[in-house]
Amino acid sequence: MYLRIAISFAIFGFFFQLSSAVKASFDGYQVFRIDVAHDTNRESQFQGLPIIQLGHSYGRSGVTLDIAVPPDYLAAFDARNFNATLLSDNLGADISNEGPLGPYPEYDQDGIPELSWFDSYHAYEDHVRYWADLHSVFPNNSELIEAGVSFEGRPIQGIHLWGNGGRNSKPAVFFNGNVHAREWITSMVVEYLLYQLITNYETDTAVRAALDNYDFYVLPIVNPDGFVYSQTNYRLWRKNRQVRDNTTAIGTDINRNWPVGFGGDGSSSDPSSETFSGYSAGDTPECASLIQFAQNLAADKGIKLFIDWHSYAQVILLSYGYTCDAFPANIDRQIDLASETAAIIAQPYNTTFDYGPGCVVLYQSSGNGRDYMTDAAGTEFGWGIELRSTSYGFVLPADQILPSGEEIWEGMKYLWANM
Ligand SMILES: [Zn+2]
Repeated sequence: MYLRIAISFAIFGFFFQLSSAVKASFDGYQVFRIDVAHDTNRESQFQGLPIIQLGHSYGRSGVTLDIAVPPDYLAAFDARNFNATLLSDNLGADISNEGPLGPYPEYDQDGIPELSWFDSYHAYEDHVRYWADLHSVFPNNSELIEAGVSFEGRPIQGIHLWGNGGRNSKPAVFFNGNVHAREWITSMVVEYLLYQLITNYETDTAVRAALDNYDFYVLPIVNPDGFVYSQTNYRLWRKNRQVRDNTTAIGTDINRNWPVGFGGDGSSSDPSSETFSGYSAGDTPECASLIQFAQNLAADKGIKLFIDWHSYAQVILLSYGYTCDAFPANIDRQIDLASETAAIIAQPYNTTFDYGPGCVVLYQSSGNGRDYMTDAAGTEFGWGIELRSTSYGFVLPADQILPSGEEIWEGMKYLWANM
C-alpha cells in the first residue's frame, strides 16, 4: 500500500511537471483580421492551416474575424490570399505585455482590498478571496452564492447583493462573467461593478436606488475550469474542460449549450470545434447549473436584466442570436436602451460600442445564454456585452482594466436607472 501511494505520488508529480512544462507559447504567432461572410461555417477555408480562431468584430466593411497563425504556417497562410490585415506580428510578446498575474492587494482602512486589484489580472483563488472580501465589508446586504459545480468539481461561485427591501425582495439583475475562459477582462469588469456598488451604496443616491430596486446576482467566473486552464496551460482557451466519450477533443462551448435554438447554425456538433455545442442541450455541468439558477430566479421575483459578459467586439448584443428573422416583442425598447447605454459608455474614453440583435449585428449563434434568458426565463432584457478591445483582442494590457471598468460602470448606472 505504501508502495502504491509512493507510485501514485510519483505519477502525479510527473504529470504536474509535464503540465507546467507544456504551457503553450505563442511566440512568433501573427494575428490577422480577415473579412468574412456573415455565415460562420468557414472552417473549411482553413483546412490544413492550424490557425487559432480569435474573435469577430463588426467594422465598416462588415464582419471580420481575427485569427492567429503559427510561425511555421505564415507562408502557407499567405499563399491562400485572404483579404487580411496584420494586427500583431508576435502574439507571444502581446501575452508577455499583458503582465504577470498580480499579487493580492493590501486592505484600505475600511477593510476593502485596494483599487490596485484592478492594475493586473489575477489567479482564480485570488478572485474567490476577493468576492469573500467584498461580502465581508457589506455583510448586511450581501451573501456568497453558489450556482453549482463545474466539470472538474469547482464551485461556480459569486455574490448576491440587495438593498433596503431586504434579501430576495426585488426582481433580479443577473450577471455572468468569463463563460469564455480567455476573456479575462470580463471577470475584472464585473468585479469593478461589484466594488462600486458596495462602496457607494451609502453615499451615492443612484447606486442606492439601483440596489434598492433590484437584487443583484453576480457570478464573475462561470467557467472556472477553463479559466484556470487559460492561466496555467493555454492563454487562448475558450471552452470548458469537459471530457467526452469517443473523442480526444476536450471542451464544450458553454455559450452554445443552452436549450433555446440548440444545435442550429452558429454552433458545431464537432467536439474539436471552438463552438462545439455539446451532444444535447444543457449537457455541460456549468450550463445545467446556470439553467437551474435562472429558473429559480424566474420563478421567484423574475429577471429584469441578464448580461452575459464577453470580449472583445465592443458591442451590446440583444436577442436573438439563433435567428435573424425573429425578435423579442420589446425589441424597439431594447434598441433604444442599448443605444443610450452605448452613448454613455463612450463618454469617458470615446470607446465605441455597437448594439443590436446578435444575429444581425455580429453573427448567428445558436444555443446561447441570452436567448435562453429571453425566451425561457422570462427576462425583460437578455443581453450580452462584448467589452473592449477590438485593437488588442483577448490579450488586453492590464492598464486597460480600470478604464474598461469605468466606462462600463457609467453605462450600467444609466441602464439600471432607466430600464
Ligand atoms: Zn465570449
